Amino acid sequence: MKKLVCGVDLGGTKINTGIMDSDGNILYNVKVPTEADKGPQHVINNIKKSIIDSLKNTKLEIDQIAGIGIGAPGPLNADSGVVECPPNLPGWIDIHLVDILKQEFNTEIKLNNDANAAALAEHLFGAGQGIDDMVYVTVSTGIGGGAIIGGKLYNGANSNAAEIGHHSINFDGPRWCNCGNPGCLESYASGTSLVKFAKKYIESGRDTILKNIPMDELKAENIFDAAKSGDELALKLIENEAFYLGVGIVNIMAFYNPKRIIIGGGLSSQWDVLYDKMMKTVKDRALKPNREICDVVKAKLGGDVGLIGAAALVL
Ligand SMILES: [Zn+2]
Repeated sequence: MKKLVCGVDLGGTKINTGIMDSDGNILYNVKVPTEADKGPQHVINNIKKSIIDSLKNTKLEIDQIAGIGIGAPGPLNADSGVVECPPNLPGWIDIHLVDILKQEFNTEIKLNNDANAAALAEHLFGAGQGIDDMVYVTVSTGIGGGAIIGGKLYNGANSNAAEIGHHSINFDGPRWCNCGNPGCLESYASGTSLVKFAKKYIESGRDTILKNIPMDELKAENIFDAAKSGDELALKLIENEAFYLGVGIVNIMAFYNPKRIIIGGGLSSQWDVLYDKMMKTVKDRALKPNREICDVVKAKLGGDVGLIGAAALVL
């Protein structure tokens, strides 16, 4: 018989909660604003309400589901169920989220990092099906990751493994990521960093059609659009973006020797623009046996990957 599980994808701006069956089908989901600025207690109440709403709309009682899985921003501890101090959830310091929710919901409750949950989702239901050694990387405003090793989600010693975004690709790089590691992958290749590099060039007087966009409205997608229309600076920025991602992939191949690397997140929508350039760097730099065994593919699951992954934590 199919199991039913509840998933909660807790993000800095919205909470996506729903009921999923063990084949990865979402039966119902609801998105509510996180309202993170109102503090942890308020956010926890929003989570509770969204779980109750999901059960109500699928006419389920709590004892009819196999459990509740929560994907949350790190750092957190999956074993103790404690959210430690995520930068995008102000006031959250050592919140015992699993214990708090257990007082309300009498079922198994599991917590993990949102990128780890997404990796599990792609492994079970997406581009990583049947692949026991794979790494998932999400590239959007930040860069996160999750590793499946020997068919199992690898958490590390305290649930912070595969922080792909914060390994250094230039030890002397910019210090604009709050992880504290100058020149980490995120500080070069995230959507946010792409925009930062663009602004630096524009401020230094480079001629580009990007100048026509108010600086505080400039987004990564504007740069991709400008590159498509042949803008020289935008083309250069995209070339760099693909190179930095390629360097990150080379390192992942060396760290994990995966059979597949799956790239998701907002910037993966530019797959056709980035892929060849990215793979040129991989071909030039990766260890041959590691490169030959591994393919690099686009993620399959869309915007609900976080919810699917969270729910999958209790499967
Ligand atoms: Zn960083």
